[in-house]
Amino acid sequence: MLMAHRIALDPNNKQATYFKKACGVARFAHNWALVEWQRQYEAWKQDNNLPKPSQAALRRQLNAIKREQFPWMLQVTKCAPQMAIIQLGRAFENFFAGRARYPKFRKKGVHDRFTLTNDQVCVEGCRIRIPNLGWVRMREPLRFAGKIMSATISRVADRWFVSITVDTQDLPKHRAENQGAVGVDLGISALATLSTGEKIVGPKPHTALLAHLRRLSRSLSRKQKGSANRAKAKMKLARLHTRIANIRSDALHKLTSDLTRRFHAICIENLNVHGMMANRHLARSIADMSFFEFRKQLEYKAERRGGIVVVADRFFASSKTCSACGAVQDTMPLSVRQWICPDCGASHDRDVNAARNLLVHGLAVLNGPTASSAGCEACGEEGAGASHKTRVKPASAKQEVSFVPV
Ligand SMILES: [Zn+2]
Repeated sequence: MLMAHRIALDPNNKQATYFKKACGVARFAHNWALVEWQRQYEAWKQDNNLPKPSQAALRRQLNAIKREQFPWMLQVTKCAPQMAIIQLGRAFENFFAGRARYPKFRKKGVHDRFTLTNDQVCVEGCRIRIPNLGWVRMREPLRFAGKIMSATISRVADRWFVSITVDTQDLPKHRAENQGAVGVDLGISALATLSTGEKIVGPKPHTALLAHLRRLSRSLSRKQKGSANRAKAKMKLARLHTRIANIRSDALHKLTSDLTRRFHAICIENLNVHGMMANRHLARSIADMSFFEFRKQLEYKAERRGGIVVVADRFFASSKTCSACGAVQDTMPLSVRQWICPDCGASHDRDVNAARNLLVHGLAVLNGPTASSAGCEACGEEGAGASHKTRVKPASAKQEVSFVPV
């Protein structure tokens, strides 16, 4: 099973300069190959006797000309340009398979990165060795044992990270503490509400950080374009954005780890519809902006424990349905936090009610369409067929944090 561990690096000035150069080479190779790909593809459309573009051919082509035309590429590891083109090839594969958009040009300063193959890295305790550069300090040792497959070095604001992909033995599955199921409603007033009635409050709205963000943005806009002060202000702003993203990412990881640790089956809604009617406060928008990340984390973490995630159809009326009698209300404005069911008189907390409906719906899906019970009726519709259980393929189970832009 492939697992990635992302570790902060402590490069010295010389090493940081090398990283910047290698990122530049990777970016150049990617952009060069993308232009060539488009050119060769057009040529192939005119004349089908010409070869179709491929990453392997493009790598040979670049190798043949780089000594004369781009001698500065030789200053860094040959992996930087090679892997960039291999990754472009994968991006095209994903595009042709309908999984991704058409590959774009890389820009300086936007997700700067380069990848090393396994023969080019060596990890020992808290350091990693890169040919022609020597040992670079890591902030923590590699967490997983197994064969190292590749390492990607990337920059976020002014910090460097290495993401090491390891082919680990299949880990023993630590099953969830509770073999039961839970419904989870991602919400507005709380980060998440569980069908047990529990509310998980996310990080506080960071009013101080938001004020700081506004001040830094104003400060940046006053600086002259191209000046050193502008570059400094830009970096300060980037650092703050990263810090806010880290706070969110931390809250999300804690939530998903906690859920998968406690419950075997987790029922969630597809796309957080209430959250989409967003409000822009930091803690609140965690839910809507990170929905896909939430789902991804739940799925891979549940997989590690042999658990299961059920995703309800996005048209499933989780808020409008009474979890006691199954009656569906016509409207349920967002402002309504508490309500009493006109049909059975049950008193509901909006979010807990939604979470309970998701649980009932999830159980109906897990038990199959023939399952009897009020559960199916409570869905109020034949939504069960549209939902699906997911068991994630191990290959996609990466333990990587992704940053969400504010
Ligand atoms: Zn009712």
